[in-house]
Amino acid sequence: WSKTLARTGCRNVCSSPSRLQSMSAWVIDQYGSSGVLRHTEEIAIPSINFANEVLIKVSAASLNPLDVNMRGGYGATLLNLRRDPLSVMSSFSEFPLILGRDLSGVVVDCGSEVTHFAPGDEVWAAVPPWKQGSLAEYVTLTEYEVSYKPKSLSHIEAASIPYVANTALSALVNAGGLCRENSLNKRVLITGASGGVGTFSIQLLKTWGAHVTVTCSQNAEGLVRGLGADEVVDYTAGDVAEQLEIMEKFDVILDNVGGDTEEWAMGLLKPWSGAKYVTLVSPLLLNTDSMGLLDGTLRAGLTLHNKAFQNITSAGVFYRWAFYAPDGPTLDEVSQLVDAGKILPVVEAQFPFTQVPQAFQKLEQGHARGKTVVKVA
Ligand code: NDP
Repeated sequence: WSKTLARTGCRNVCSSPSRLQSMSAWVIDQYGSSGVLRHTEEIAIPSINFANEVLIKVSAASLNPLDVNMRGGYGATLLNLRRDPLSVMSSFSEFPLILGRDLSGVVVDCGSEVTHFAPGDEVWAAVPPWKQGSLAEYVTLTEYEVSYKPKSLSHIEAASIPYVANTALSALVNAGGLCRENSLNKRVLITGASGGVGTFSIQLLKTWGAHVTVTCSQNAEGLVRGLGADEVVDYTAGDVAEQLEIMEKFDVILDNVGGDTEEWAMGLLKPWSGAKYVTLVSPLLLNTDSMGLLDGTLRAGLTLHNKAFQNITSAGVFYRWAFYAPDGPTLDEVSQLVDAGKILPVVEAQFPFTQVPQAFQKLEQGHARGKTVVKVA
């Protein structure tokens, strides 16, 4: 996955005016269930604090399982460290906190060193979890985190892609070792393929020429086959491991389900081949939340080390955790694939900005078939 689109050339230089206006946003003032979501018209429009930042007017946002988890306090220990690394802010509080990780919108202002974007540009982005989110009229991001929105998509469609794209690419490329050049005929298994990350990953891997097997519920078979899946295993129709064990073994497994999946999935990899199991469901943030930063990180590090060591020495396969990584240049390349018609948005449901709590309820019900999007403006 090469960064082929060089981000060069000075597009525009402008400075951030001082902003006193307030904006409309959904915030939480404490962690909890759906009742903690509050709509306000009185939160300040974010200002451009660094010369490399852009201010974006959000047209659409989408929700991810992370938003539901963060609403309940998931990851707060590690994310607060990122928000205030040296504990320099005596009265630091993450509240009022704005959730929402994806956006599609329009640049309205740029820091003095922004070279790639100008006011009026239509952009999309995934907002890092430690920053104020996209369930708001405006978001500030660094230009590295932002990318030109695909011209062929509406804002609603575009908002469904950035976070799952950055996550899938981080997992498949950085952890899974796959890329456009080496994936031809590689056998890849995706568990939980009917959700946001899975529906994107199937399409990306098919553009790279991989052979893609997926697990999902029976009623998602039409969706995943339509996106290109070669083999579909219904995990609700008996023992999923038994159904997969009779197949040829895999080069890479992307696990979107977690739980006990790794107990049976490691045996599905080609032994002594450097095959890789990559899970997006790791205990790192749960550990730091429950044990504190130091003990939680040590515990997670030990768990990862032990599992990786045991698998590489006993079967010659890699065991890895993957995480979302903000990356605008990667989204530039995804944008090209979308405009070439190789990757389609999978929008399952959309809600108006007044119904953000209902959008969260939809997500909490599970059984996603692609993404839930909120029309912000
Ligand atoms: P979604 O909720 O969009 O999708 C999950 C999908 O899995 C649903 O379609 C669900 O449908 C299906 N599913 C549930 N149980 C099983 C099962 N046992 N076997 C097969 N399919 C199953 O989640 P995302 O795609 O957005 O994310 C996937 C996972 O990755 C989540 O746990 C998320 O928290 C995590 N994640 C981690 C990131 C990181 O940085 N580490 C970043 C992004 C995501 P149904 O129940 O109907 O079968």
